[in-house]
Amino acid sequence: MSIAQNVSRILADIEAAAIAAGRDPKEIILCAATKMNGSDAVREAIAAGVRCCGENRVQELTQKLSENAYDGADIHFIGHLQTNKVRQVVGKVSLIQSVDSLRLLQAISKEAVRQDLMQDILLEINIGEEASKSGFSAADILPLLQDLEQYPNVRVRGLMAIPPICENPGDNNKFFEEIRALAVDIKAKKYDNVCMEILSMGMSDDYEDAIAHGSTMIRIGTAIFGARNYAPAPPMG
Ligand SMILES: *Cc1c(COP(=O)(O)O)cnc(C)c1O
Repeated sequence: MSIAQNVSRILADIEAAAIAAGRDPKEIILCAATKMNGSDAVREAIAAGVRCCGENRVQELTQKLSENAYDGADIHFIGHLQTNKVRQVVGKVSLIQSVDSLRLLQAISKEAVRQDLMQDILLEINIGEEASKSGFSAADILPLLQDLEQYPNVRVRGLMAIPPICENPGDNNKFFEEIRALAVDIKAKKYDNVCMEILSMGMSDDYEDAIAHGSTMIRIGTAIFGARNYAPAPPMG
């Protein structure tokens, strides 16, 4: 299957999953997770109808920007971001989805103030409370949102989560529901500079379930671009 065929199929699946859940398909954005795929693959996905690309690594973001890979698409950052690299990301992407610590939030805010712009972000929730993952716990998030004036020039547009790897289809549904419930809770409190219009959850293996449970943004890599090749490049020469 080509990238174009994969994108068409996923867009059709999104529509079907939304309609089955009684939702408007237009509420759901497909964010192509482009890590380890080059500019040509990204261009192919965009030509096939992808309107949003999510990058994991600063180096890949910088490279693809320099190659004009994202032609007309929204660019998001979705990977773990080190505080010493925020300069290369703030103002370059329309949304940083993966804000997973107070230190990072502070660094983004400082850089956004320096550049005199408003940076949209999502707060990443460690929904399975996994020790191996970064992200805020549901309990940390309410006091943080109350204190958001400490972090000027950032606007929280919603939540992002990567639930634990699950064995059986449907295992993640409880996590998707927890995130949706948390977003409803936050929205009701009407914090300044916070809206909960984006729930970024669902990947190649579970995006239809995520849509059934309120996702407004799915991040898809493998199902668009095929399996990623993590093997080291063969030696040159
Ligand atoms: C790679 C990645 C994805 C996409 O994963 P697939 O299973 O390949 O669809 C989604 N979100 C994040 C944060 C990722 O790093």
